[in-house]
Amino acid sequence: RIARQLQDGLFARQVARISSARPANRARHYDVLVVGAGFAGAVMAERIASGSGKSVLVIDKRPHIAGNAYDHHDDAGILVHKYGPHIFHTNSRDILDYLSRFTGWRPYEHRVLAYVDGQLVPMPINRTTLNALYGMNLETEEEAAAYLQSVAIDVGEVRNSRDTVVSQVGQDLYAKFFEGYTRKQWGVDPRELDKSVAARVPARTNTDDRYFTDAHQCMPDKGYTRMFRKMLNHPQIDVLTGQGYDDLPETISWEHLVWTGPIDEYFHHRLGHLPYRSLRFEHETLPQEQVQPVATVNYPDYDVPHTRITEFKHLTGQQAEVTSIMREYPADEGDPYYPVPNPAAQDMYRRYAALARDCPEVTFVGRLATYRYYNMDQIVGQALATWRRLDARWRLESLS
Ligand code: FAD
Ligand code: UDP
Repeated sequence: RIARQLQDGLFARQVARISSARPANRARHYDVLVVGAGFAGAVMAERIASGSGKSVLVIDKRPHIAGNAYDHHDDAGILVHKYGPHIFHTNSRDILDYLSRFTGWRPYEHRVLAYVDGQLVPMPINRTTLNALYGMNLETEEEAAAYLQSVAIDVGEVRNSRDTVVSQVGQDLYAKFFEGYTRKQWGVDPRELDKSVAARVPARTNTDDRYFTDAHQCMPDKGYTRMFRKMLNHPQIDVLTGQGYDDLPETISWEHLVWTGPIDEYFHHRLGHLPYRSLRFEHETLPQEQVQPVATVNYPDYDVPHTRITEFKHLTGQQAEVTSIMREYPADEGDPYYPVPNPAAQDMYRRYAALARDCPEVTFVGRLATYRYYNMDQIVGQALATWRRLDARWRLESLS
């Protein structure tokens, strides 16, 4: 197989790297190289070191650990999330228990308001939203359900994100809350996106105004970066930040590679570029204690260039006389933040996944490496399951 890959010029560099890992007399030899210090990379590194007893080097091209969950104190001393608001929520006790080895938690339930028709109303759409927008007085879940049923459109089979929404709440609420936001966020009409995208925020008939309904909702009490530092603080783990995979010194070698970056980048885009959606983040500190009533306000109007504004003190509970906010501007160019859930992209990903299956010396894990629109807890779950499989394989190999 390696000989076959060597014939392929596009693979030559990577194979050279992997085979250069074989000689043991190199300056620094690791059992495992982990590319990416986000949730996928940090969980893999921690498990491989603590659970499998192997040496690990973690690299990240960014100047810090924690991937997109990175938080830090800004110039005003406010704890902010550099790459967009990250709220932890999960239904899995196991995932919460695993992370609790590295952090304490602050209870926090996320609330979002949307700015629609000059008012701030709860999002996801709930009974309060309906009453506020349409001047109604729906008092029970049954009344709200009957209203939604009266405006819902029968689309037959639900095939895309527009169908998801109009079949639940009809055209007017779709236009007010979803159409503009989704066109901004993804740069395409909701008809071109998988039905699962809009299904992340289903409408409700009760007055629950929490963004998530998971059993466990909380924030790391000293922030995400502190939690990652504890995960990676192990005698068998070295971490190099500001270090891309492409310019790793030849003196560093390894037996197995864990890749958490974009899967098409690993294969030098040989099957084409997978689409990713990016964001530009605009941070600002304001000389007042609080600017908005909840952590996040969404702006679904297409003519407003940002999608949402987050005020971080709501998430962290920090007390201060000033406050820091962030506006999110969706973009085509920039760091890849979101895999794009549409059929063409999924088809290209499946072909990359087939190439990945032919590389047993590389493990692909994480949001970009498996091209899945996953939340943090799902990535932790995916990494834990991936490690269990890898560990079982290593145990079998060590017997033979
Ligand atoms: P990442 O965090 O992206 O880590 C991958 C790392 O690999 C990066 O640090 C990158 O620099 C590094 N890397 C890539 N290529 C290379 C290379 N060639 N060499 C060296 N390093 C490389 N999830 C939630 O549960 N709740 C939320 O509220 C939430 N909010 C979000 C808001 C935004 C704006 C975004 C974009 C995501 C949000 N998420 C949220 C999702 C969450 O960020 C991801 O699930 C999680 O961070 C994925 O972890 P990961 O390790 O797979 O990827
Ligand atoms: N969405 C929307 N209006 C909103 C909130 C969400 O149209 O006010 C749609 C949009 O397509 C978005 C998707 O629902 O990309 C998922 O929303 P979520 O808040 O889960 O996105 P994320 O936090 O992952 O960016």
